[in-house]
Amino acid sequence: MDPTLVDQARHTLEAERERIRLELSEEVYHPHVAHGAQTAAASEVSESQRGQQLREREELHLTQIESAIRRIEAGTFGLCQTCGKPIAPERLEALPWAQDCVECHAKKRR
Ligand SMILES: [Zn+2]
Repeated sequence: MDPTLVDQARHTLEAERERIRLELSEEVYHPHVAHGAQTAAASEVSESQRGQQLREREELHLTQIESAIRRIEAGTFGLCQTCGKPIAPERLEALPWAQDCVECHAKKRR
């Protein structure tokens, strides 16, 4: 594994982790969530449902990022979690939190 690529991935992962943490903590204090639901119109309800879905996606993404950071620390970063082969550097550059190589990812999607 190219140490420069690992270093670069770590920077991307840490920046992304901070961004999501900030986003999630801001949402907790979002005023329209704190106020009573009695007066909420139907559109506001669906809006908060969308917010909930978004939040779940972000939390999942955060989990992926944290496990990628753990793999960097463990020295197993860049290896496919399914077949154990190295993940293509182009893929890691674009998606440093990727857990599978392109082949395994494609198989899972099917
Ligand atoms: Zn694989």
